[in-house]
Amino acid sequence: MDLHLSSIKKLILLLENRSISSLELTEYFCNRIEQIQPNINALISYDRDIAIESAKQSDQRRSKQRSGPLEGIPILQKDLICSTKYTTTCGSKMLKDYTSPYNSYVVNLCDAAGMVELGKTNMDEFAMGSSNETSYFGNVLNPWDHSKVPGGSSGGSAAAIAARLAPIATGSDTGGSIRQPASFCNLTGLKPTYGAVSRYGLIAFASSLDQIGPMAQTAEDCAYLMNVICRKDVKDSTSKEYDIDFTQELDKKMDKIKVGIPKQISTFNLNLDVENAFMQTKRSLENIGAEFVDIDINSFELGLPAYYIIAPAECSSNLARYNGALFGYRADDSTTLNEMYKNSRTEGFGDEVKRRIITGTFVLSKGFQGQYYKKALSLCMDLRNEFQKIFKQCDFILTPTVSIPPFSFNAYTNPVEMYQSDLFTIPANLCGLPAISFQSGFSDALPLGMQLIGNHFEDHRLLNVVHHFQQNTDWHLKTPKDY
Ligand code: GLN
Repeated sequence: MDLHLSSIKKLILLLENRSISSLELTEYFCNRIEQIQPNINALISYDRDIAIESAKQSDQRRSKQRSGPLEGIPILQKDLICSTKYTTTCGSKMLKDYTSPYNSYVVNLCDAAGMVELGKTNMDEFAMGSSNETSYFGNVLNPWDHSKVPGGSSGGSAAAIAARLAPIATGSDTGGSIRQPASFCNLTGLKPTYGAVSRYGLIAFASSLDQIGPMAQTAEDCAYLMNVICRKDVKDSTSKEYDIDFTQELDKKMDKIKVGIPKQISTFNLNLDVENAFMQTKRSLENIGAEFVDIDINSFELGLPAYYIIAPAECSSNLARYNGALFGYRADDSTTLNEMYKNSRTEGFGDEVKRRIITGTFVLSKGFQGQYYKKALSLCMDLRNEFQKIFKQCDFILTPTVSIPPFSFNAYTNPVEMYQSDLFTIPANLCGLPAISFQSGFSDALPLGMQLIGNHFEDHRLLNVVHHFQQNTDWHLKTPKDY
């Protein structure tokens, strides 16, 4: 039985009617991990014994009729989500041996739902990057083509699900880190509305932008995880009540939706195959009843510079805590306290993280705040207003997720060039909006994804539209050869 190709709905059924046990399912995925992981480096931690133990407990709960909604379903967590079962490294030398003394709210919710945590996924260091090349734990290879990056920063989660090492994984998205790797690895990935999923126990990059979300084969699979992780949490002051049954919403007839097409799209230098896939996606959406309106939107061009000021500013503050004294790596042989701070940070952080910290410190410094940080914040307000105006004309906005197909390792010598690949994904973070990337075509043998952005707390509508799209297309069923 091809369990790794089964939907979560199907796996739940098989577990419920006792066709398989949680132990059997977990062993099945453990075998896949042991066979495939050495080729793609998608995981930072994995422990068969821990996974098997959780699976046995799951089977016991089932035998006592105490099953949770995703009882026995295996999951991989991105390695910046704290879990006491494994280390939480953030892909950094700074935290390479760190084990959190507590679980994140998301891990607690997954545990309570009965899920089996198989391990933690590789990622760009502190979630800063678009290619997974900044990880201290080495590059992740894209299962579709080992010479290409899987995207980032949730590249490990994306590669793992593309190679079907688990039915589902979490990612985190600050400027596109769920959607861009989902697009590069042929997955569906949802960045929820800011506040829909608790950030308690998510190691912070840029707190006003970070959100955890699901990465999986289909919108339906994502909806199953959203039902578990979308819960108001008193420990996260930005967490909001969003009480909805995501799986029930899927099957509702699709509303008569109006989709906004940015007039500016042709000015963004789209790769030809991406442009063709975009047109094809429009036609497929039209076939399921969508209407289109042209919209005038500046947020994409303006979002990029604003993000690369706001995100480093917040990161410089959030990462100040890693100084060798309290958490993580401490350099040997320092003679003074200041030297210890300096050496620990110099040796513990990689180049990209240092670049962001230095940028952030600069834009927040006295005399420059007004020119940079405050200006970026006010730009952000303009973007929010622009989106609210646009959502009076349409329900969703369609763009490619990325303007290019997955790129090769070491493709960019100038980091600013790589930042350009976040053009379409960043505005959703700056404005707290939900956005989804879904499978929409290929460039030769490399996957391409499209993005729909919705208004606040319309995550369920995004999933509903993509679910209907997926019932009429087969891009999401394509898997990489040899996996
Ligand atoms: N690629 C973007 C960056 O490098 C986004 C990262 C993210 O969403 N975590 O900042």
